[in-house]
Amino acid sequence: MDERTRSTPARQIGLGPATRLECGICWTVYDPALGDEVWQIPPGTPFSELPPHWTCPNCAAEQRSFLPLDD
Ligand SMILES: [Zn+2]
Repeated sequence: MDERTRSTPARQIGLGPATRLECGICWTVYDPALGDEVWQIPPGTPFSELPPHWTCPNCAAEQRSFLPLDD
């Protein structure tokens, strides 16, 4: 167990590995199944494992501006 890699802010809102999140500013959706071409994030990367400097590829909003989507 390595708690350090799990202590991201996103964890506080109970994100699952496949949870999609929507930018609260421009409504761009981050889908873990697709990753992010802009940031060269490979498909299969959970939101909680995005690099700390990742921001919205459309409007540069911070990760905390993203809201989880319910399937
Ligand atoms: Zn945005």
